[in-house]
Amino acid sequence: MDTTHYEVVEYWFLHQDECGLSVDWDEAEKLCWRCAQERLLQRCHIIPRALGGSEEPSNLVLLCGQCHAEAPNVADPEFMWVWLRAHAASFYGTYWYNRGLREFEFIYGRKPLAEFTEKPECLMPKLTVAIDNYITQTSTHWGQGKLNPATIAWLLRQVEKELDNSA
Ligand SMILES: [Zn+2]
Repeated sequence: MDTTHYEVVEYWFLHQDECGLSVDWDEAEKLCWRCAQERLLQRCHIIPRALGGSEEPSNLVLLCGQCHAEAPNVADPEFMWVWLRAHAASFYGTYWYNRGLREFEFIYGRKPLAEFTEKPECLMPKLTVAIDNYITQTSTHWGQGKLNPATIAWLLRQVEKELDNSA
């Protein structure tokens, strides 16, 4: 029988300190261990099966499909935890938005919305309207369920243009 999500969480609750991770162990059955989003979770092998990794809880972590695709595939089990801690989101729900900000900076060589100096309380209502206008022109890859960083970067750029026009 397949190892259950519960067994994976129970094992790591006893063997790995949650300090510095995106999730607390009491929520680790429903939140992705990297992005901390509530998504359908997959069992991800720490040492890949192709490199002799087992199906035991000690060789599994729980990730969403999007994070699973980016997880390390190496024969060094410690690196999974180094990777998970390096990506830990400081606030629940901000992981992919922060990735989108970094993608924007990579593409345009500057921070988004840098030229808008209005107070946040004035900017936020305009931002909300702009996002509503453009979100219908975005989509997700099959099975991922969330916008990926490149899509968020595009959305931020459209929001900037919209704010420019309304200034
Ligand atoms: Zn994830």
